[in-house]
Amino acid sequence: MIQQLLRRIIHIGKVAEDLGQLEQSVLTTGALTKGSIKLRHVDCGSCNACEVELSMCFSPSYDLERYGVSLTASPRHADGLLVTGIVTMNMKGPLLDAYNAVPSPKVVIAVGDCACDGGTFKESYAYAGSCEDLLEVTLKIPGCPPEPTEIIGAIRRVSAR
Ligand code: SF4
Repeated sequence: MIQQLLRRIIHIGKVAEDLGQLEQSVLTTGALTKGSIKLRHVDCGSCNACEVELSMCFSPSYDLERYGVSLTASPRHADGLLVTGIVTMNMKGPLLDAYNAVPSPKVVIAVGDCACDGGTFKESYAYAGSCEDLLEVTLKIPGCPPEPTEIIGAIRRVSAR
């Protein structure tokens, strides 16, 4: 088995099989995330109220994980990003780094008015733009902050079967 694998690596230079046309066609963002989704949360400069609501989503009271939605520490293990806060000058680079580290296809979910369009802090000297100005946003969850039920309902739109 190992010999066969080594022969294959030497011969074709890679281990992974090519995906056929059918498999490629189902690798759309929607199909990828149906039923289960891992998200990397990036706080780009929030007041922390959006984080409080997010943490409630994963608490025993709301238990978002029961729907197969979970947080992951590494963007390389994630299906997408959960972004909160305005994108500050200091967090623009880390946000783009995290985005580039997530394998494609990926989702970007902007949580709260700040992430959606700058919200209350869009006049700030530290404002580098909204999430949408920098990334292709899949889902926007407005609110200042949005309630756990709103966040869960919206995320279910990209994760529900
Ligand atoms: S949307 Fe509102 S609650 Fe969320 S980070 Fe911005 S100011 Fe805070």
